[in-house]
Amino acid sequence: MYFASDNSGPVLPEVMAALTRANEGYAMPYGADADMEEVRTRLREVFEAPEAAVYLVATGTAANALALATLAQPYQTVFCSAVAHIHEDECNAPEFYTGGAKLTLVPTDNKMTPEALAASIAGEGTRGVHGPKRGPVSITNVTERGGVYSAAEIAALCAVAQQHDLPVHLDGARFANALASTNATPAQMTWQAGVDVLSFGGTKNGCMGVEAVILFDPARAEEFEFRRKRGGHLFSKHRYLSAQMAAYLREDLWLQAARKANDAAADLAHGLRDAGAGFLHDPDANMLFPTFSRAAHQRLHEAGAKYYLWEGDLDGADPDEHLSARLVCDWSATDDNINRFLAHLAGAQS
Ligand SMILES: *Cc1c(COP(=O)(O)O)cnc(C)c1O
Repeated sequence: MYFASDNSGPVLPEVMAALTRANEGYAMPYGADADMEEVRTRLREVFEAPEAAVYLVATGTAANALALATLAQPYQTVFCSAVAHIHEDECNAPEFYTGGAKLTLVPTDNKMTPEALAASIAGEGTRGVHGPKRGPVSITNVTERGGVYSAAEIAALCAVAQQHDLPVHLDGARFANALASTNATPAQMTWQAGVDVLSFGGTKNGCMGVEAVILFDPARAEEFEFRRKRGGHLFSKHRYLSAQMAAYLREDLWLQAARKANDAAADLAHGLRDAGAGFLHDPDANMLFPTFSRAAHQRLHEAGAKYYLWEGDLDGADPDEHLSARLVCDWSATDDNINRFLAHLAGAQS
């Protein structure tokens, strides 16, 4: 019963097989391999962006930090949600890679509203040379609280950024899950809405360790290349990154994997609701934030279920007090695991 994160799941067998195939013989280093050519072509097709520049790195933190470094000057500030991964979970890598740009937190506990973003932008850049200059806006889809922005919602945020001439970065560590939960196209969810640079996740959705950075404006590509090398993220045996991403994109494997994860989460959410659980945030994709009794959490922990307790103390006194959890489903989640979890939740198994 593993629901701790989608990065605790296994690698897709097709990706594993592609790594084995890539391990035969020789290939040119540093991204000059044949699989990388396929990745570039395929991502340009998928995003209907024939000019886009495409790069691979090994972690989402590197993708975000390098993307933001390409968009922001050291004296600028990056606008992001108060719960953004770049703020809470990247150990100041964006600040470090940008050479000191700061983050301005837009108040929200899930999705930013255009009004809140506009108010945050209005509050910065008003002190002349004494304060930070306004810099890029960074949006996360799927959000860190499991929310999904529609293409129209992304466009509304980008419109606010555009009013101030600010570029937009999208943290898409779970971009496939966001896409699978909307009926929009990749283009509608990104550059057509006004996104300039996308961190396109692979790892959480079944790769071993690869994320793409897609710069829809190729004018920024050269700077990105220098920053990636300087930041220690240009892989010499690059074919092992390329092979993963190539396999992930073939025959829409990435979308199938995301649909499986989202469907599993929907089944789990359904069962949780039937068992009387509430939700801190409406589940839109593959992350759930249910609240249910301490007694049920204790049963689940004793039975070996793996997930993060979000708020509350497992060892508190009142068995009926509701504690919240974060549950994430990956592509490999099974009905059997979900049903066992729900049975323990209900107290049907001892
Ligand atoms: C997981 C995640 C990342 C990337 O994290 P790494 O551990 O650096 O790969 C980035 N953004 C979000 C929203 C994430 O959930």
